Amino acid sequence: MRSRTVIIAVSLFFILFTNGAFFRHVTQVYPIHSGNFLFVISLGIVLLCVTVIVLTLLSSRYTTKPVLITMLIVTSMVAYFMDLYDVVIDSHMIQNLLETNIKESADLLSFKQLLYFVFLGLIPSIIIYRLQIVPMRLKESVIDKVKVIAIALATALIIVFAFSKYYTSFFREHKPLRYYANPVYYLYSIGHYVQETFSHPYSGLAVIGADAKILPSEQPRKLVVMVVGEAVRWDHFGLNGYERDTTPQLRKEDVINFTQFTSCGTETAVSVPCMFSSFGREGYEKEKAQHTENVLDVLKRAGVNVLWRENNSDSKGVATRVAFEDYQKPSTNTMCDEECRDEGMIVGLQEYIEAHPKGDILIVLHQMGNHGPAYYKRYTKGYEKYTPVCKTNQLEQCSKEEITNAYDNSIMYTDAFLTKVIAFLKNNDEKFATGMFYVSDHGESLGENGLYLHGFPYNIAPEAQKHVPAVMWFGKQFKIDKARMATSAKEPQSQDSLFHTLLGYMEVNTSIYQPKLDLLHVGR
Ligand SMILES: [Zn+2]
Repeated sequence: MRSRTVIIAVSLFFILFTNGAFFRHVTQVYPIHSGNFLFVISLGIVLLCVTVIVLTLLSSRYTTKPVLITMLIVTSMVAYFMDLYDVVIDSHMIQNLLETNIKESADLLSFKQLLYFVFLGLIPSIIIYRLQIVPMRLKESVIDKVKVIAIALATALIIVFAFSKYYTSFFREHKPLRYYANPVYYLYSIGHYVQETFSHPYSGLAVIGADAKILPSEQPRKLVVMVVGEAVRWDHFGLNGYERDTTPQLRKEDVINFTQFTSCGTETAVSVPCMFSSFGREGYEKEKAQHTENVLDVLKRAGVNVLWRENNSDSKGVATRVAFEDYQKPSTNTMCDEECRDEGMIVGLQEYIEAHPKGDILIVLHQMGNHGPAYYKRYTKGYEKYTPVCKTNQLEQCSKEEITNAYDNSIMYTDAFLTKVIAFLKNNDEKFATGMFYVSDHGESLGENGLYLHGFPYNIAPEAQKHVPAVMWFGKQFKIDKARMATSAKEPQSQDSLFHTLLGYMEVNTSIYQPKLDLLHVGR
C-alpha cells in the first residue's frame, strides 16, 4: 500500500471512531435537527483534512509505521477518557500525565478501557504493523506529500469559506469544542507544552526612556483622557461620512477627526499592547513587549499621574505597573444593568482629580465599545436607533441588516460616551489644559466576503479590520494649532504614533521620543 493511502485510512478511522466526544459537544451547540446537519458533516471533513495534513507531516519512510501505531494507541486512550470523563488533553494535562507515575495510572484501568484499547488501539495497530508500505525515493515522497497537503488544505479552506458564518462562531464563540478534536488537539497540546517549557527568549523588564523629563511649560497642569475603543471600523463612524449619522453628538463638538488611521493588529491582544509600546507594528512582538516598559511606565517615571480604568477585559499587560481599576463589576462600576457600561468609568473621575492636586494627569479608559458578536448588548435602550437588530451571538442566525443595525447602535452609544468624556473635561477647563484622544483598537468585519468579527491575519485582513476611527478634542487652554492639525489628520496615520503622541501631550522629552510620530507636533 502507498503511504498516503494508509495515512488517509487511519485519519478516517480517527474521525469515525475516536471523536465521539467531539461530535457530541458539537451537536449540543449545533443541534442536527435545526438545520445544522450539513455543517456537522463539513466539520467532519475539515477535521479529516487537518488530521491528514498533520499525519503527513509526521510521516517519512522510517517513521510512518511507528508514528501511526503510537498514535493509534494513545488516541484510543484519549478517546476513552474524553468519551467517559469529558477530559480535555491540554498542555497542563500533558504536564500532569508526565508527572503522574505508572502506579497511579494503573489504578485508573477498567474493563471498558480495555475494550477501547483493544478495538481502537491494538487491532488497528496490528493491521498497520503487518501492512507492506511501498517504499518511495525521497524526491518522489516529498512531491507526493506536497500534493496530499495541498489538496487537503484547499478542501478544508473551501469548506470553511462555504460555511463561513458557522465557522466564525465555531472558532470565536465555541473555542472549547475544538479541544475535543482527536488526535489533533492533543498533538497541538504536546507542541504547546514543549514550546512553553523550552522557550524563554526574554526575561525581566527592559527600562526605556530612563531620561524622561517633563519640559518647562507655559500651560497649566495637563489633564488628558485617552480612550481605547473596541472593534469600531472607520466606515461606520458617522464623522467619516457614513450614510448613517452614528456620531451625532461628537459632530457638535470641535473635534479633530483622523480619517486614515490604521491599527497595529486586528485583535485586542495585539493592538492594545502594541499601541502603548515603542516598537510600532513592524517591530512589535508579544514576548518582547511584555518584557519592556511602555509609554505609561515612562510617563509615570517622569512624574505624570497615570490611571487605567478597564471595562473591556484587561489591559493586556499595559497597566501592570500603574494604578489600575477594574470597572467590569458592579462593586466599582455604578452603571451596570445586564452588563457594566462604559459610562460608569467616568463616575468618580472628578474625585480622582481632586485627590491628585499635583502633577499632570493621564487617564486611560478601555472601553467595551463594539465588542462582538453580541453587539445588541453593547448599548442601552435609548440608543437603539436602527432596527430590527440581531439579538443573538450566533451571527449565522441573523441577516446582514440586523447585524449592522446592532453594530451601528453600539457606535451611537460610544458617540454619547465620548461626548460625556468631553463634558467632564470641559468642567475642568479652567484649571487644566485638557485633551481627549480616542482610538479604536482594531476594526470589524460585518459579513463582507463571509468574514465576521476580527482577528484575521494582518497582511491579508480586509481594510474593515485595520482602518479605525481616531478623534482628538482639546480644551481652551491646550496650546495647539488646530488648523494645522486638521490638515495632518487627513494624512495616513497609525497606532505607531500613540507612544510619541502621549509623550507629546505631556510635553515629556526623552531620547526615544520621535517628534515625527507625535501627532501633536505638527500643531505646535
Ligand atoms: Zn478589540
